[in-house]
Amino acid sequence: MTEIETLRHSSAHVLATAILRIWPEAQFAAGPPVENGFYYDLDLPHRITPEDFARIEEEMKKEIKANHRFERMEVSRDEALKLAREGALAALSGRAEPSRFKLDIIENIPDGEVITLYRNGDFTDLCAGPHVSHTGRIGAFKLTHVASAYYKGDERNPQLQRIYGTAFKNKTDMDAYFKMLEEARKRDHRKLGREMELFCFDDDVGPGLPLWLPKGAVLIEELEKLAKETEFAAGYQRVRTPHIARESMYVCSGHLPYYAESMFPPMELVADANAFLNIDLSKTLDDLEKKIFESNEPLLEELASPGSEQVTIKEATESFWAKLRSQDNQLDETARKAFFLRILRRLQGRIDRYYLKAMNCPHHHKIFGAVPRSYRELPLRLAEYGNCYRYEQSGELFGLMRVRSMQMNDAHIYCTEDQFEAEFNAVNQMYLKYFKIFGIDKYLMRFSTHDPEKVGQKFVGEPELWIKTEEMVRNVLKRSGINYVEVANEAAFYGPKIDVQVWSAIGREFTIATNQVDFAVPKRFGLVYKDRDNTEKTPLCIHRAPLGTHERFIGFLIEHYAGNFPLWLAPEQVRILTIGDEEPLVEFAKSIHAELRSHEVRADLDLSTDKINGKIQRAEQQKVHTMLVIGKRDLESGAVSVRVHGRGNLGAKPRAEAMVDILAAIKERRG
Ligand SMILES: [Zn+2]
Ligand SMILES: [Zn+2]
Repeated sequence: MTEIETLRHSSAHVLATAILRIWPEAQFAAGPPVENGFYYDLDLPHRITPEDFARIEEEMKKEIKANHRFERMEVSRDEALKLAREGALAALSGRAEPSRFKLDIIENIPDGEVITLYRNGDFTDLCAGPHVSHTGRIGAFKLTHVASAYYKGDERNPQLQRIYGTAFKNKTDMDAYFKMLEEARKRDHRKLGREMELFCFDDDVGPGLPLWLPKGAVLIEELEKLAKETEFAAGYQRVRTPHIARESMYVCSGHLPYYAESMFPPMELVADANAFLNIDLSKTLDDLEKKIFESNEPLLEELASPGSEQVTIKEATESFWAKLRSQDNQLDETARKAFFLRILRRLQGRIDRYYLKAMNCPHHHKIFGAVPRSYRELPLRLAEYGNCYRYEQSGELFGLMRVRSMQMNDAHIYCTEDQFEAEFNAVNQMYLKYFKIFGIDKYLMRFSTHDPEKVGQKFVGEPELWIKTEEMVRNVLKRSGINYVEVANEAAFYGPKIDVQVWSAIGREFTIATNQVDFAVPKRFGLVYKDRDNTEKTPLCIHRAPLGTHERFIGFLIEHYAGNFPLWLAPEQVRILTIGDEEPLVEFAKSIHAELRSHEVRADLDLSTDKINGKIQRAEQQKVHTMLVIGKRDLESGAVSVRVHGRGNLGAKPRAEAMVDILAAIKERRG
């Protein structure tokens, strides 16, 4: 946990303390810090509403004023269970009802893990920590909203009330935060996206599946152009992979079964459709039975009989089993069952399951493994703007920030341990280049590392590699002067990771990308290269996606720029506005328009009969970046009057000069 997260999580304990003073029967579940704040889930017959907030906050203030120490206590599993049964966890004292969620949490703590309690004043909670030293450290806080959530996010579990709040070191920081939120509401990417016709959602397409309108597609194309140029210069090679893959690949990668809930359910195909779609049950089953009892080999191909009624494999096997059972023959039940199972397995083997890809990595690993690799080819950098699909819960979907289909600025770098540091550094340099282009001044790399005591359980069992790569990552971060924090015990299973947080122009925080070191998966896929000494070695893999997904990154950019995109990104870069509609003026405007378009500038022409002020107003409202206003005098001197959205009139310029300026600003991707 970072410092601010620790402060916010500590506020959750204070929130629970306050709620118990009002409703002593409240049962608490989990209360972690979240982006921009914290929450605590609780079960309580009284439905808490924002009207209750003042009362709860009053109690919280008392707890903070009392400046109680957060006391850490290690307890045995038995002690923890005893306290939970006495109702004394997440409670002010023992109660008639056990602390039932805490009881469940304790029962799920793995053997051998240290169990700790934290106490502030008379409130005791089961918690791994950490916490601020005293409740008085919470300088400013506010409860923000209440929602409902299922225990452990599972809808089969009871529904709980989730109280959200936020906390800061001091009131100044908190005021700035709420002011920023106010500004962010005006810049909301969902609102601007609709007004500017960038993207939309449609019920028939499905929730979380954005449709990109022409102006939004421009943003995508420009970002891809930037990424492709940058990656080309950095020695990446581009690959293309399908949107789906067979189940077996995700079993190999380990995504199945662990990640199955985040994937769309599989498509089931009968591999050899001709052999299975039409089955004449009465006839073929008799034949089949005969064959089964004569030989030990079920010949499934002979199930087929053209032109008969269509049945599913399940129906066919069930009916087959029923028939087998009703038959009186010399085979005993066990033997029949064994036969049946063999057939069933064969049938199941014929069902091919395909999944929409939730990540590009396994496809790229297959490309690495597709040809024999030598150390001379490393580092091998495979890049793709890959489409991924994730089944986010419908309650989690949010504009472009949480979607179910996403286009990822993905690449996988396969390298040796010796090459790792330089490769990782190059990835970071790429981030810095992008931050500069987009005017991102404030950013933070959140470096999640392992816990040596959990190697082999929570973290893949490569103790030396963990230490070595983390050291290299740390070196790179230190040397390049990148702003970072190190968070222990939060690495992924297969390696340390870095989450990249950026702040928009108004100071709103976004998590846009993740870098990941991977020691485990290349081995699972059997990826090897021939080293100098002719032995086969497994490469390390770096997953990186500096521009994240188009969806999230464009969502960020819309809010960052408030829809006022720089020239190179603007969906409509230039609009030519004529004052009047005399033939020579119109011809002049058309020739400028044609010249701009010939240089692939997204230019439009407003030849309407509206007054010039009306034309300008419309262009400004539509956030057109540059307006070239042409009147009679401009025509006579071969000039244009340049106007930039949000900056006003910049004066007249010779046509050729204006053209050079525009092309240069686009080429250099000026902000
Ligand atoms: Zn805690
Ligand atoms: Zn990956």
